[in-house]
Amino acid sequence: MIIKPGQTIGIIGGGQLARMMCFEAYKLGYKVCVFANNDDSPAFDVTDNKIMGDYGDQKLIDKFIDSVSVVTFEFENLPYETLTYIEKKILMRPTSRSLYISQDRIREKSFINKLGVNTTDYQQINNLSDFNRGVEEFNYSALLKTARLGYDGKGQFNINEKSNIAEIYHQALEHNVPLVLEKKVDFVKEISIISARDSNGNIVCYDAVENIHKDGILRKTIAPANIEEHIKNKAKTIAKKIVEGLDYIGILAIEFFLDKDDNLLVNEFAPRPHNSGHYTIDACYHNQFEQAIRAVAGLPVMSTKQHSKAEMINLIGDDILQAETLSDNSLIKIHNYNKKQIKTNRKMGHYTKIPLPEGEVR
Ligand code: AMP
Repeated sequence: MIIKPGQTIGIIGGGQLARMMCFEAYKLGYKVCVFANNDDSPAFDVTDNKIMGDYGDQKLIDKFIDSVSVVTFEFENLPYETLTYIEKKILMRPTSRSLYISQDRIREKSFINKLGVNTTDYQQINNLSDFNRGVEEFNYSALLKTARLGYDGKGQFNINEKSNIAEIYHQALEHNVPLVLEKKVDFVKEISIISARDSNGNIVCYDAVENIHKDGILRKTIAPANIEEHIKNKAKTIAKKIVEGLDYIGILAIEFFLDKDDNLLVNEFAPRPHNSGHYTIDACYHNQFEQAIRAVAGLPVMSTKQHSKAEMINLIGDDILQAETLSDNSLIKIHNYNKKQIKTNRKMGHYTKIPLPEGEVR
Protein backbone atom coordinates (compact mmCIF):
# COMPACT_ATOMS: atom_id res chain seq x y z
CA MET A 1 0.00 0.00 0.00
CA ILE A 2 1.24 3.46 -0.92
CA ILE A 3 0.49 6.42 1.29
CA LYS A 4 -0.24 9.53 -0.80
CA PRO A 5 0.92 13.08 -0.07
CA GLY A 6 -1.67 14.79 2.10
CA GLN A 7 -2.27 11.59 4.09
CA THR A 8 -1.09 11.35 7.67
CA ILE A 9 1.77 9.25 9.00
CA GLY A 10 1.46 8.39 12.69
CA ILE A 11 4.63 8.28 14.78
CA ILE A 12 4.65 6.76 18.25
CA GLY A 13 7.23 8.49 20.43
CA GLY A 14 8.06 12.17 20.36
CA GLY A 15 11.83 12.42 20.77
CA GLN A 16 14.45 13.86 18.45
CA LEU A 17 14.13 10.89 16.07
CA ALA A 18 10.42 11.60 15.62
CA ARG A 19 11.21 15.32 15.23
CA MET A 20 13.66 14.63 12.41
CA MET A 21 11.24 12.16 10.79
CA CYS A 22 8.55 14.89 10.88
CA PHE A 23 10.80 17.31 8.95
CA GLU A 24 11.27 14.75 6.20
CA ALA A 25 7.62 13.69 6.12
CA TYR A 26 6.51 17.30 5.58
CA LYS A 27 9.10 17.73 2.80
CA LEU A 28 7.48 14.80 1.01
CA GLY A 29 4.02 16.32 1.40
CA TYR A 30 2.75 14.15 4.23
CA LYS A 31 1.06 15.20 7.43
CA VAL A 32 2.20 13.73 10.72
CA CYS A 33 0.48 12.86 13.96
CA VAL A 34 2.80 12.31 16.93
CA PHE A 35 1.69 10.23 19.92
CA ALA A 36 3.97 10.81 22.92
CA ASN A 37 3.70 10.63 26.67
CA ASN A 38 5.73 13.66 27.62
CA ASP A 39 4.97 17.34 27.22
CA ASP A 40 8.66 18.06 26.67
CA SER A 41 8.72 16.11 23.40
CA PRO A 42 10.88 17.64 20.66
CA ALA A 43 8.54 16.36 17.93
CA PHE A 44 5.58 18.31 19.36
CA ASP A 45 7.36 21.51 18.23
CA VAL A 46 7.13 20.56 14.60
CA THR A 47 3.61 19.23 14.25
CA ASP A 48 0.37 20.63 15.53
CA ASN A 49 -1.22 17.22 15.19
CA LYS A 50 -0.34 15.55 18.46
CA ILE A 51 -1.70 13.19 21.05
CA MET A 52 -0.27 13.43 24.54
CA GLY A 53 -0.73 10.73 27.12
CA ASP A 54 0.05 7.24 28.24
CA TYR A 55 1.00 4.68 25.57
CA GLY A 56 -1.37 2.20 27.19
CA ASP A 57 -4.40 4.53 27.23
CA GLN A 58 -7.02 2.76 25.10
CA LYS A 59 -8.97 5.92 24.23
CA LEU A 60 -5.84 7.71 23.06
CA ILE A 61 -4.65 4.70 21.08
CA ASP A 62 -8.00 4.55 19.26
CA LYS A 63 -7.94 8.30 18.63
CA PHE A 64 -4.42 7.95 17.21
CA ILE A 65 -5.46 5.09 14.91
CA ASP A 66 -8.42 7.15 13.65
CA SER A 67 -6.14 10.10 12.87
CA VAL A 68 -3.57 8.37 10.67
CA SER A 69 -3.14 6.25 7.52
CA VAL A 70 -0.06 4.31 8.57
CA VAL A 71 1.93 3.97 11.80
CA THR A 72 5.59 3.79 12.70
CA PHE A 73 7.53 4.18 15.96
CA GLU A 74 10.70 5.96 16.98
CA PHE A 75 11.80 4.14 20.10
CA GLU A 76 11.80 0.68 21.57
CA ASN A 77 10.58 1.04 25.10
CA LEU A 78 6.92 0.98 24.12
CA PRO A 79 4.31 -1.43 25.42
CA TYR A 80 4.34 -4.37 22.99
CA GLU A 81 0.58 -4.85 23.52
CA THR A 82 -0.09 -1.32 22.24
CA LEU A 83 1.76 -2.09 19.03
CA THR A 84 0.07 -5.44 18.43
CA TYR A 85 -3.33 -3.80 19.04
CA ILE A 86 -2.55 -1.00 16.56
CA GLU A 87 -1.20 -3.44 14.01
CA LYS A 88 -4.46 -5.38 13.94
CA LYS A 89 -6.36 -2.21 13.03
CA ILE A 90 -3.99 -0.37 10.71
CA LEU A 91 -0.82 -0.81 8.67
CA MET A 92 2.31 -0.50 10.79
CA ARG A 93 5.84 -0.40 9.36
CA PRO A 94 8.07 -1.90 10.71
CA THR A 95 5.89 -4.56 12.33
CA SER A 96 5.76 -5.30 16.05
CA ARG A 97 7.87 -8.44 15.53
CA SER A 98 11.11 -6.49 15.10
CA LEU A 99 10.32 -4.54 18.25
CA TYR A 100 9.45 -7.73 20.13
CA ILE A 101 12.86 -9.16 19.28
CA SER A 102 14.90 -6.02 19.86
CA GLN A 103 13.18 -5.19 23.16
CA ASP A 104 14.90 -8.10 24.84
CA ARG A 105 18.67 -8.57 24.56
CA ILE A 106 18.43 -12.33 25.04
CA ARG A 107 15.79 -12.76 22.35
CA GLU A 108 17.73 -10.45 20.07
CA LYS A 109 21.04 -12.33 20.39
CA SER A 110 19.39 -15.70 19.96
CA PHE A 111 17.57 -14.46 16.81
CA ILE A 112 20.84 -13.12 15.36
CA ASN A 113 22.77 -16.31 16.18
CA LYS A 114 20.09 -18.38 14.46
CA LEU A 115 20.77 -16.42 11.27
CA GLY A 116 24.38 -17.62 11.52
CA VAL A 117 25.66 -14.20 12.65
CA ASN A 118 27.96 -13.79 15.66
CA THR A 119 27.09 -11.74 18.71
CA THR A 120 29.03 -11.21 21.93
CA ASP A 121 29.17 -14.34 24.14
CA TYR A 122 26.35 -14.18 26.65
CA GLN A 123 24.47 -16.10 29.31
CA GLN A 124 21.01 -15.63 30.69
CA ILE A 125 21.19 -15.02 34.44
CA ASN A 126 18.34 -16.47 36.49
CA ASN A 127 19.93 -16.52 39.93
CA LEU A 128 23.07 -15.68 41.87
CA SER A 129 24.73 -19.02 41.19
CA ASP A 130 24.24 -18.54 37.40
CA PHE A 131 25.86 -15.17 37.83
CA ASN A 132 28.84 -16.51 39.81
CA ARG A 133 29.37 -19.29 37.29
CA GLY A 134 29.11 -16.92 34.33
CA VAL A 135 31.52 -14.41 35.80
CA GLU A 136 34.11 -17.18 36.33
CA GLU A 137 33.58 -18.48 32.82
CA PHE A 138 34.11 -15.00 31.38
CA ASN A 139 37.22 -14.58 33.53
CA TYR A 140 35.89 -11.62 35.52
CA SER A 141 35.75 -9.54 32.37
CA ALA A 142 32.05 -9.08 31.71
CA LEU A 143 29.06 -6.75 31.76
CA LEU A 144 25.81 -7.53 33.50
CA LYS A 145 22.95 -5.91 31.61
CA THR A 146 19.24 -5.67 32.10
CA ALA A 147 17.80 -7.58 29.17
CA ARG A 148 15.06 -4.99 28.76
CA LEU A 149 14.47 -1.25 29.10
CA GLY A 150 18.15 -0.32 29.03
CA TYR A 151 19.49 2.35 26.71
CA ASP A 152 22.45 4.74 26.62
CA GLY A 153 24.38 2.55 29.06
CA LYS A 154 21.53 2.49 31.59
CA GLY A 155 21.04 -0.80 33.44
CA GLN A 156 24.65 -1.94 32.90
CA PHE A 157 27.15 -3.14 35.49
CA ASN A 158 30.83 -3.52 34.79
CA ILE A 159 32.41 -6.67 36.27
CA ASN A 160 36.09 -7.12 37.07
CA GLU A 161 38.15 -9.05 39.67
CA LYS A 162 37.39 -6.44 42.33
CA SER A 163 33.61 -6.49 41.85
CA ASN A 164 31.31 -7.49 44.68
CA ILE A 165 29.25 -9.98 42.71
CA ALA A 166 26.42 -10.42 45.21
CA GLU A 167 25.99 -6.67 45.63
CA ILE A 168 25.90 -6.06 41.85
CA TYR A 169 23.39 -8.87 41.44
CA HIS A 170 21.05 -7.35 44.01
CA GLN A 171 21.36 -3.88 42.48
CA ALA A 172 20.57 -5.31 39.05
CA LEU A 173 17.56 -7.23 40.38
CA GLU A 174 16.02 -3.92 41.46
CA HIS A 175 15.32 -3.19 37.78
CA ASN A 176 12.81 -6.07 37.87
CA VAL A 177 13.64 -7.37 34.40
CA PRO A 178 15.55 -10.46 33.18
CA LEU A 179 19.35 -10.19 33.26
CA VAL A 180 22.03 -11.12 30.78
CA LEU A 181 25.76 -11.45 31.34
CA GLU A 182 27.97 -10.56 28.38
CA LYS A 183 31.63 -11.26 27.93
CA LYS A 184 33.55 -8.00 27.61
CA VAL A 185 34.84 -7.60 24.07
CA ASP A 186 38.32 -6.25 23.60
CA PHE A 187 37.26 -4.31 20.54
CA VAL A 188 39.42 -2.28 18.17
CA LYS A 189 36.49 -0.17 17.03
CA GLU A 190 32.77 0.07 17.44
CA ILE A 191 30.97 0.45 14.14
CA SER A 192 27.38 0.59 13.02
CA ILE A 193 25.50 0.23 9.80
CA ILE A 194 22.16 1.67 8.79
CA SER A 195 20.00 -0.13 6.27
CA ALA A 196 16.66 0.61 4.74
CA ARG A 197 14.30 -1.91 3.17
CA ASP A 198 11.17 -0.97 1.25
CA SER A 199 7.90 -2.81 0.82
CA ASN A 200 9.16 -4.36 -2.44
CA GLY A 201 12.11 -5.91 -0.63
CA ASN A 202 14.78 -3.52 -2.00
CA ILE A 203 17.58 -3.02 0.50
CA VAL A 204 20.08 -0.16 0.67
CA CYS A 205 22.87 0.22 3.24
CA TYR A 206 24.83 3.30 4.20
CA ASP A 207 28.56 2.78 4.59
CA ALA A 208 29.60 1.58 8.03
CA VAL A 209 30.50 4.38 10.47
CA GLU A 210 32.73 4.41 13.52
CA ASN A 211 31.23 5.26 16.89
CA ILE A 212 32.95 6.58 20.00
CA HIS A 213 31.11 6.06 23.28
CA LYS A 214 31.76 7.35 26.77
CA ASP A 215 29.89 5.93 29.77
CA GLY A 216 27.74 3.89 27.39
CA ILE A 217 26.57 6.99 25.49
CA LEU A 218 27.42 7.78 21.89
CA ARG A 219 29.62 10.90 21.73
CA LYS A 220 30.93 10.93 18.20
CA THR A 221 30.37 9.22 14.86
CA ILE A 222 33.00 9.25 12.12
CA ALA A 223 31.49 8.70 8.67
CA PRO A 224 32.59 6.68 6.85
CA ALA A 225 34.48 4.45 9.28
CA ASN A 226 38.19 4.21 8.71
CA ILE A 227 38.18 0.44 8.17
CA GLU A 228 39.08 -1.84 5.31
CA GLU A 229 36.64 -2.32 2.45
CA HIS A 230 36.17 -6.05 3.13
CA ILE A 231 34.96 -5.29 6.66
CA LYS A 232 32.50 -2.71 5.35
CA ASN A 233 31.21 -5.33 2.92
CA LYS A 234 30.95 -7.92 5.66
CA ALA A 235 28.86 -5.49 7.74
CA LYS A 236 26.55 -4.94 4.76
CA THR A 237 26.14 -8.67 4.20
CA ILE A 238 25.20 -9.15 7.86
CA ALA A 239 22.78 -6.20 7.72
CA LYS A 240 21.03 -7.71 4.70
CA LYS A 241 20.68 -11.05 6.47
CA ILE A 242 19.10 -9.38 9.49
CA VAL A 243 16.65 -7.14 7.60
CA GLU A 244 15.61 -10.07 5.45
CA GLY A 245 15.35 -12.36 8.48
CA LEU A 246 12.99 -9.84 10.05
CA ASP A 247 11.09 -9.28 6.78
CA TYR A 248 11.68 -5.69 7.72
CA ILE A 249 10.25 -2.49 6.26
CA GLY A 250 11.92 0.73 7.40
CA ILE A 251 15.28 1.82 8.78
CA LEU A 252 17.25 -0.66 10.85
CA ALA A 253 20.51 0.17 12.64
CA ILE A 254 22.99 -2.49 13.74
CA GLU A 255 25.84 -1.89 16.18
CA PHE A 256 28.95 -4.06 16.00
CA PHE A 257 32.22 -4.59 17.81
CA LEU A 258 35.21 -5.09 15.52
CA ASP A 259 37.97 -7.14 17.17
CA LYS A 260 41.66 -7.29 16.34
CA ASP A 261 41.15 -10.38 14.15
CA ASP A 262 38.65 -8.48 11.97
CA ASN A 263 35.67 -10.35 13.45
CA LEU A 264 32.41 -8.46 13.58
CA LEU A 265 30.19 -9.21 16.57
CA VAL A 266 26.71 -7.76 16.67
CA ASN A 267 26.04 -5.88 19.90
CA GLU A 268 22.42 -4.93 19.19
CA PHE A 269 20.04 -3.59 16.58
CA ALA A 270 17.46 -0.84 16.63
CA PRO A 271 14.26 -0.98 14.53
CA ARG A 272 14.29 2.77 13.84
CA PRO A 273 16.58 5.61 12.74
CA HIS A 274 19.69 5.75 14.89
CA ASN A 275 21.91 8.37 16.49
CA SER A 276 24.88 7.12 14.46
CA GLY A 277 22.93 7.96 11.29
CA HIS A 278 22.34 11.63 12.09
CA TYR A 279 25.32 12.60 9.90
CA THR A 280 23.28 11.47 6.86
CA ILE A 281 21.20 14.67 7.09
CA ASP A 282 24.16 16.86 6.20
CA ALA A 283 26.49 14.43 4.41
CA CYS A 284 24.25 12.26 2.20
CA TYR A 285 21.82 13.00 -0.61
CA HIS A 286 19.05 11.05 1.14
CA ASN A 287 19.12 10.92 4.92
CA GLN A 288 18.01 8.09 7.19
CA PHE A 289 14.83 9.93 8.25
CA GLU A 290 13.74 10.44 4.65
CA GLN A 291 14.40 6.74 3.96
CA ALA A 292 12.36 5.81 7.05
CA ILE A 293 9.41 7.92 5.90
CA ARG A 294 9.67 6.63 2.33
CA ALA A 295 9.67 3.00 3.50
CA VAL A 296 6.75 3.61 5.86
CA ALA A 297 4.82 5.30 3.06
CA GLY A 298 5.45 2.41 0.66
CA LEU A 299 7.82 4.41 -1.59
CA PRO A 300 11.08 2.93 -2.90
CA VAL A 301 14.20 3.48 -0.79
CA MET A 302 16.79 5.80 -2.35
CA SER A 303 20.55 6.04 -2.77
CA THR A 304 22.73 6.02 0.36
CA LYS A 305 25.51 7.94 -1.40
CA GLN A 306 27.52 10.19 0.88
CA HIS A 307 28.66 13.47 -0.71
CA SER A 308 30.92 14.66 2.13
CA LYS A 309 33.03 13.04 4.78
CA ALA A 310 31.62 13.96 8.16
CA GLU A 311 31.76 13.69 11.90
CA MET A 312 28.69 13.89 14.11
CA ILE A 313 29.14 15.08 17.67
CA ASN A 314 26.36 14.77 20.22
CA LEU A 315 25.55 17.74 22.43
CA ILE A 316 24.86 16.12 25.78
CA GLY A 317 23.55 17.91 28.87
CA ASP A 318 25.19 21.34 29.25
CA ASP A 319 27.04 20.95 25.93
CA ILE A 320 23.95 22.43 24.33
CA LEU A 321 24.78 25.80 25.86
CA GLN A 322 27.71 26.14 23.42
CA ALA A 323 25.58 25.24 20.41
CA GLU A 324 25.07 28.77 19.13
CA THR A 325 28.73 29.74 19.27
CA LEU A 326 30.33 26.58 17.88
CA SER A 327 32.71 27.45 15.12
CA ASP A 328 36.01 26.36 13.62
CA ASN A 329 37.51 26.08 10.19
CA SER A 330 35.04 23.50 8.93
CA LEU A 331 31.40 23.50 8.00
CA ILE A 332 29.31 23.05 11.11
CA LYS A 333 25.61 22.27 11.04
CA ILE A 334 23.85 22.49 14.37
CA HIS A 335 20.73 20.54 15.28
CA ASN A 336 19.13 21.68 18.52
CA TYR A 337 16.24 19.45 19.65
CA ASN A 338 14.85 22.25 21.83
CA LYS A 339 14.34 20.04 24.86
CA LYS A 340 13.07 22.30 27.60
CA GLN A 341 14.97 20.66 30.43
CA ILE A 342 18.73 20.15 30.38
CA LYS A 343 19.70 16.95 32.21
CA THR A 344 23.08 15.27 32.67
CA ASN A 345 23.52 12.65 29.94
CA ARG A 346 20.41 13.82 28.09
CA LYS A 347 20.93 14.12 24.34
CA MET A 348 20.03 17.78 23.71
CA GLY A 349 21.28 18.18 20.15
CA HIS A 350 24.10 17.31 17.81
CA TYR A 351 26.25 18.89 15.16
CA THR A 352 27.77 17.63 11.95
CA LYS A 353 31.23 18.74 11.07
CA ILE A 354 32.28 18.63 7.43
CA PRO A 355 35.94 19.32 6.71
CA LEU A 356 36.71 21.92 4.04
CA PRO A 357 38.98 20.90 1.18
CA GLU A 358 42.64 21.52 2.02
CA GLY A 359 43.65 25.15 1.65
CA GLU A 360 40.07 26.41 1.61
CA VAL A 361 38.96 28.68 4.41
CA ARG A 362 35.50 29.20 5.68
P1 AMP B 1 24.76 -1.05 24.74
O1 AMP B 1 23.74 -0.43 25.60
O2 AMP B 1 24.72 -2.54 24.71
O3 AMP B 1 24.78 -0.45 23.35
O4 AMP B 1 26.18 -0.66 25.37
C1 AMP B 1 26.65 0.67 25.39
C2 AMP B 1 28.16 0.68 25.21
O5 AMP B 1 28.80 -0.09 26.26
C3 AMP B 1 28.64 0.00 23.93
O6 AMP B 1 28.55 0.87 22.83
C4 AMP B 1 30.08 -0.32 24.31
O7 AMP B 1 30.89 0.84 24.28
C5 AMP B 1 29.93 -0.77 25.75
N1 AMP B 1 29.69 -2.24 25.77
C6 AMP B 1 28.48 -2.84 25.80
N2 AMP B 1 28.59 -4.19 25.78
C7 AMP B 1 29.91 -4.47 25.72
C8 AMP B 1 30.68 -5.68 25.67
N3 AMP B 1 30.09 -6.89 25.69
N4 AMP B 1 32.02 -5.54 25.61
C9 AMP B 1 32.63 -4.34 25.61
N5 AMP B 1 31.96 -3.17 25.67
C10 AMP B 1 30.62 -3.20 25.71
